[in-house]
Amino acid sequence: MPVDTDVVIIGAGVSGLAAAKELGRLGLTYTVLEGSHRIGGRAYSEEIAPGVWFDLGCAWLVGGATNPFVAIADELGITLDKNHSDAFKSENHRFQRNGQSLNGDQRAACLRFYNDSYEAVSDVAGQGQDVAVSDVIDIENEFAEPFLCGVASAWGRDIDLVSTADFANATGELGFQALHGYGNLVAAWGEDVTVSLNTRVERINWSGHGVTVKTPRGSIAGRTVLNTVSTGILASGEILFTPRLPDWKTEAINGLPMGTENKMGVYFDTDVFGADGRGHYSIWNDDGNAAKVDASVMGLNTAAVFVGGRHGIWLEKQGPQACHDFAVDRVADIFGHDIRKHVIRSITTAWSTEPWTRGSWACALPGQAHQRANLQRPVGERLFFAGEATVYGVQGTCHGAYQSGIQAARDIATQLHVEP
Ligand SMILES: Cc1cc2nc3c(=O)[nH]c(=O)nc-3n(C[C@H](O)[C@H](O)[C@H](O)COP(=O)(O)OP(=O)(O)OC[C@H]3O[C@@H](n4cnc5c(N)ncnc54)[C@H](O)[C@@H]3O)c2cc1C
Repeated sequence: MPVDTDVVIIGAGVSGLAAAKELGRLGLTYTVLEGSHRIGGRAYSEEIAPGVWFDLGCAWLVGGATNPFVAIADELGITLDKNHSDAFKSENHRFQRNGQSLNGDQRAACLRFYNDSYEAVSDVAGQGQDVAVSDVIDIENEFAEPFLCGVASAWGRDIDLVSTADFANATGELGFQALHGYGNLVAAWGEDVTVSLNTRVERINWSGHGVTVKTPRGSIAGRTVLNTVSTGILASGEILFTPRLPDWKTEAINGLPMGTENKMGVYFDTDVFGADGRGHYSIWNDDGNAAKVDASVMGLNTAAVFVGGRHGIWLEKQGPQACHDFAVDRVADIFGHDIRKHVIRSITTAWSTEPWTRGSWACALPGQAHQRANLQRPVGERLFFAGEATVYGVQGTCHGAYQSGIQAARDIATQLHVEP
């Protein structure tokens, strides 16, 4: 079969789009095949009210000024909210138990527990051990509940399923938000890439010299293939590899299963948060209802409520109405029952059953943090891999996906003997 293109890129999320742009810059040809009806993947914004956008996936340009999407937004004339990141710094995080803010002593004890837990995780990671976070922190502490909820949300998995090495290596401050949505920013940046939408890849045959990629709309032959789909898709077997992937690659995929963080956005007809209400809250009740809440998202009348891990999956299975009720209850826990009469509508996510990702992002199992390098490693000099799960330090982020796409494009260029 004659070769149609240098690189067949599977997926038009951030990593696939970044790779396409870099390959074009390097003078290589590519074809991007995207299974869904749109570009952006896990970067996706929806209008929760006219002119008010809510990000179902990534919302924070993590790291602030150093994030590559800051320069991209500036270039595209897209406004970022650069002036309020202090409200979201960890020292300004607010804690509420049973509807009451922690008093000074309780807050100090809570922060001490958080610091001790972070130190315990980084100590074992520093000793080269990779165990479960639950093995090294004091889960009986009276402030363990919000910490557990925070990990389940930030990692998408509960602490017994989170690797200390991966945790210790994670990115810090949240940074900036895009006023009209991070998803919209990604869509605007990616619109100049030619993408074949509604083109689901079913099979990759790499038995010959190059690759043949089969879709319901026909096959395409390339010199190499770049996979950017999530580990959820790779593990599902929806894409068949002929011959099958080597065991070390399958082990890497299985060591990095998808987590689930679900977001519920609630929009109100007025500012129910008050002048000082904007910021992040960890709340929990003795009945076990814990959540993280981002009040007044982008300074608007929206709250985002987050739950992850087993609780997030359970709530997702209860359906959108249960998610809506849970979210409104949590906002009422903080701002009082009066908020209920101001609710206009909500948007709820269902990432664990999202067919194009099967989860929110990859989370290394205890003992498996090293698998990110194996996930990224090419196979047979023609199967390349990129995406948020393939990077260290910025794993699970939009700019991590971006970096991985650029790196993969350069690796492919080197493989095909093209000078960067
Ligand atoms: C709830 C949530 C909150 C988040 N918050 C943040 C945040 O605040 N900041 C941040 O930086 N990051 C955040 N992230 C993470 C960030 O969105 C992702 O890391 C990033 O978008 C992943 O990009 P990717 O290119 O690796 O993968 P994807 O975006 O998943 O792209 C892969 C593409 O492959 C396509 N595909 C799948 N199967 C096939 C197939 N068989 N054939 C063809 N195409 C296929 C998919 O449709 C998708 O478009 C969040 C994610 C979620 C879910």
